[in-house]
Amino acid sequence: MKLVLATHNEHKVAELSRMLEGLDVEVLSVRDLPDLPDVVEDGETLEANAVKKASAVSAATGLPALADDTGLEVEPLGGEPGVYSARYAGPDATYDDNNRKLLAALEGVSANRRRAVFRCVVAVAVPGGDVRTVEGRTAGSIIDAPRGRLGFGYDPIFLPDGSARTYAEMTQTEKNAVSHRGRAMRAARDLVEELL
Ligand code: IMP
Repeated sequence: MKLVLATHNEHKVAELSRMLEGLDVEVLSVRDLPDLPDVVEDGETLEANAVKKASAVSAATGLPALADDTGLEVEPLGGEPGVYSARYAGPDATYDDNNRKLLAALEGVSANRRRAVFRCVVAVAVPGGDVRTVEGRTAGSIIDAPRGRLGFGYDPIFLPDGSARTYAEMTQTEKNAVSHRGRAMRAARDLVEELL
């Protein structure tokens, strides 16, 4: 079976492909299918965006599609940036811009109050409109200066509970074992297996 990963983010394609290894699926990314329409992530929830991306790509390709939408919810900021994590520092924000804005927003907040949770919703859509979602969460804290060069996004400033290392100090295998996306994808593998 072919399965399209509905994301342009190469880091995510790498992470997601790795987590689907061992299943009898041929993984394609939207980069392999250049004529797909761009999907605007304007939903108010992670669920809405994941469903929208997976459904649009499945409808356009006639193939099952898998999409994720992820947000970092920071407790002392009332859950921000949440669904707006990609655009936290503005529409063209880089990962560094977002990290700098988050660290500035938390200036003066003590280590034990810098609680955060990464939430990842994965949607699997099939032609005909059926779509299902699963969720993975990882709790942790936001440190006060970036650490590590691996990964992407908020990885250098997120320290998962129970770890001495940030996501950006972990190999992909180590990150997958504890990450929000790893947890969501282990549940999503079951959805994909049901389709096979
Ligand atoms: P998206 O909307 O799912 O692409 O994710 C929103 C933003 O969350 C991205 O721009 C990244 O900055 C961040 N993000 C998503 N997944 C991760 C991750 O695994 N580690 C760190 N940041 C992430």
